[in-house]
Amino acid sequence: MKLKIPPPLLRRFNWLLGLLLLLSSSLSAAQAPLSHYYQDTWTTRNGLPHNSINAIAQTSEGYLWFATWEGVARYNGREFRVFERGEHTGLPDSGLRSLTPDGQGVLVAGARGGVSRYEQQRWTAEPPVAAMVNHVLRDRRGRLWFATEGEGIYMRDGRGEHHYGVAEGLPGAGVYRLLEDDDGRIWAGTSQGLAWIRDGEVAVVPGVPPVPVLALLHDERGRLLIGSEQGLYVWEDDSARPHSPALAGEAVSSLLLDDEGSLWLGTIDRGLVRVSRFGLERLGLAQGLPDKRVVSLFQDAERSIWVGTNGGLLRLRDAPFTSYTQDDGLAGNYVRTVLAHSDGSVWVGSSNGLSQIRGDSITSLPLRLPDGGIPSVLSLAEGRRGELWVGTYTHGLLRLQDGELAEILDRESGLGANEVRAVLPARDGSLWVGTAKGLNRLAEDGIRTYTQADGLPGDFVMNLFEAVNGDIWVGTGVGAARVRDGTVTPLYLNSQENAEYAFGFYQEPDGRHLWMATDRGLLRYRYRDASLAVVGRRHGLPVEKMFQPVADRLGGLWLTTNRGIIRIEQADAHRVADGELAQVGFELFGEGDGMASSQANGGSGPAAVQAADGSVWIATAKGVARVQPERLADFGRSRLPVVLEGVEVNGQLTGITGPQRLAAGSERLQLRFAGLGYVMPERIRYRTLLEGFDQDWVPREHQAQAEYTNLPPGRYLFRVAAAYPYGDWSEQEARLAFTIAPFFWQRSLFWWSLGILGLGGIWLLMRLRLRLLRRRAEQLEQQVAEKTGELQRQSQAFERQAREDQLTGLANRRAFDEGLQAAWASRGTAPLCLAVLDIDHFKQVNDRWSHAVGDQAIQAVAAVLRRELRAGDLAARWGGEEFTLLLPDTAVEDARRICERVRRAIEEMDCGPIAAGLRLSVSLGLAEAGTLPDEDKLLSCADKALYRAKREGRNRVVLWS
Ligand code: GH3
Ligand code: MG
Ligand code: MG
Repeated sequence: MKLKIPPPLLRRFNWLLGLLLLLSSSLSAAQAPLSHYYQDTWTTRNGLPHNSINAIAQTSEGYLWFATWEGVARYNGREFRVFERGEHTGLPDSGLRSLTPDGQGVLVAGARGGVSRYEQQRWTAEPPVAAMVNHVLRDRRGRLWFATEGEGIYMRDGRGEHHYGVAEGLPGAGVYRLLEDDDGRIWAGTSQGLAWIRDGEVAVVPGVPPVPVLALLHDERGRLLIGSEQGLYVWEDDSARPHSPALAGEAVSSLLLDDEGSLWLGTIDRGLVRVSRFGLERLGLAQGLPDKRVVSLFQDAERSIWVGTNGGLLRLRDAPFTSYTQDDGLAGNYVRTVLAHSDGSVWVGSSNGLSQIRGDSITSLPLRLPDGGIPSVLSLAEGRRGELWVGTYTHGLLRLQDGELAEILDRESGLGANEVRAVLPARDGSLWVGTAKGLNRLAEDGIRTYTQADGLPGDFVMNLFEAVNGDIWVGTGVGAARVRDGTVTPLYLNSQENAEYAFGFYQEPDGRHLWMATDRGLLRYRYRDASLAVVGRRHGLPVEKMFQPVADRLGGLWLTTNRGIIRIEQADAHRVADGELAQVGFELFGEGDGMASSQANGGSGPAAVQAADGSVWIATAKGVARVQPERLADFGRSRLPVVLEGVEVNGQLTGITGPQRLAAGSERLQLRFAGLGYVMPERIRYRTLLEGFDQDWVPREHQAQAEYTNLPPGRYLFRVAAAYPYGDWSEQEARLAFTIAPFFWQRSLFWWSLGILGLGGIWLLMRLRLRLLRRRAEQLEQQVAEKTGELQRQSQAFERQAREDQLTGLANRRAFDEGLQAAWASRGTAPLCLAVLDIDHFKQVNDRWSHAVGDQAIQAVAAVLRRELRAGDLAARWGGEEFTLLLPDTAVEDARRICERVRRAIEEMDCGPIAAGLRLSVSLGLAEAGTLPDEDKLLSCADKALYRAKREGRNRVVLWS
């Protein structure tokens, strides 16, 4: 950087050269006057720990750091994170004076000699220095130099510590600033002048007064600038001399050379000074500086200037919008109309007269009406011969030639009214004038007036526009109208959200559509089919009353409103109007973006225009605002790093340095991040990608955090990128690799084991079951066998029961019948006898003793029969106390004897055991088959014989004859 020009020559042309260099470096850059920087301030109310900003730095990851008496604050564009003395930082005191970027981190130093390094989220304390540290320097050889308050300089070189005090030749014991030059000299601003150290030797710099030297800086020519309490000095060609007469009296506390070559000086009691192509400019308390004492200066990566004062922090930035107000020389603050003149200047019409802006200079016209008043301007137009048409509120239309009032057209000249809201010089040479009472066309053949009677929807004309095809469009308070060949065609807007006011028009060069700003959004008129469509509140636009659409060169459409300026993409507006898009994306700009007032004006015009350089000018309630869409896009191109600021696992904060191994069950993860952009932090957009979970980037919009729930165990890589509007996604993404450990049941081994165990279990169960089934089958078989046997037995018993008398066990009547039939059938020639036996006076037995005794008597008779009859004979209980006896193959005499034997046995039977005094006898009737025709006859004959036996006195046997 050092110029190789012989010293004497350089000295002589020093001033000229400096000026030239300053000019050449600045002209190429788009630098603005100091007053046009947008200001932001921060104090303890915004989270700063103290209002004295002792030092400012930016670390490579993008954070801004502010050292104060109550700790160091790290800023991410949204909030300050304060670090104080204590175990965390290792600092012995919170009073901090010095910030030195070092590697990826920053060295922080201050009261009680505390020195600590912050790097990658971690603090590492260095051994304290003997006194309060004012400044720390790391030289090219890696040595650390500490400028202390009252104890000179300490140098640490890894082997030990060296001290340079007054005894070693320092002019003052207080040291404020250190700087290393190309030759390896360490320059030291002390409490009593400047010194340098080389090879362990201290030398006092002559030419610098023995007063505190608080600031040192290499300028872009490699010269050393020396800020002392008694002015700015420059060291050049081995001697120091005052920098310039203008800065001779400044008590300089800090110095900064910005990227455009402008020199910034912080002073002890006179605020901020800038030396640039705009000359020497000052920024003091009146211009917004929080305190007149400036302590520190810094330019960040986005080129904003940070000014640390004793009363807070000020940031000067290039805002998207610049406002020009009365303070800048504008005739009035209430601006109603702007005009981009073909000569490159911009005319501004306000309620208090007319101004012209050319470059950075503003000229207000000393324009006076015949009555001496200053015109209240409503509308402007450039005539075909370069003349200026000025529509006023009360005095009609003025024609200005070379800045001089040349003509006044008013009601008396034929205009509808003196309130002229729109002027339009048409391509055919005619002049259209819109007034509060109708429309006038001025041509060589005279004035023609159009009112409601001619088809205008309303007489209150606010805007005029000539379409590509020569149509004159008229905006009124009750709709629009088109004038073609002297014919007015009204276009009522009520069909579109009930819109009424047509405030402003814009047409794309292809002439196919016409855009209208109305009180119900932006309307599109399509020439092809004369159809209307709206882009408004229901498509997401935040404000519906809009005054003027202005196109930029980047495809954007700017819409001015009472509540800020909206920018949308023209292509999006068409897609909404065509019904292809439900919501329209937009940007809303206001006071935070550099506008003196976000309230734009409308109702006369033009209310906003695009100038030849592409900038858009807007009439507002406080001056005229200018936006440079290209500059806005530039902001988007600036480097925007993003950092991870906090990670919470299941609601618990966790470390974020290095890859994380998270415990099993870490299902809920919250990650907070920040795009470290300071120009428009609230416009930063984010997107995240969790590799291992997301398929693609997830847009987060302005949300600076991401949350994941139900994350399964596995490996992940979290990535986050940030972007300004119109900007690309940051290349410097923040990343965090982590794994979530599985629970034992989430491991595949577990499931394999469980599977095998399960299969084994099933096999065992099946075997058991088989065994059980087999046993059961056996049991069943047995049971069936048992049941069958039982059934067989039962059926046999039933069989028996069916043929056996229950009480006596003798054959029953059915069995006897069968026996009789069989014996009858098979008797052949053999004799067959049958006897019927009846117990005598049995009724009396029952009566005298009991039925039970009767039963026993019957059983006793049966027993006798069983005993006395022969095998082959058949005795049966015929019913009641009657029995039948079948005596096959028995001759009648034998039968008679058998019957007699039975009779006698019963007669002689001892019935005492059954019942005392009981005696029994029976009567028998006997018959022989002989010649009888069938077995029934045999039975009835025996019965008849019995009857006879009864009649003959009972207890006897009677043979049928
Ligand atoms: P007879 O000498 O004329 O035969 O007089 P009897 O009383 O025996 O004759 P009758 O036919 O009038 O009466 C028969 C009685 O036998 C009537 C009835 O109560 C009794 N009797 C019939 N079957 C049974 C029985 O199974 N058990 C008992 N205890 N009594 C029976
Ligand atoms: Mg009887
Ligand atoms: Mg009887």
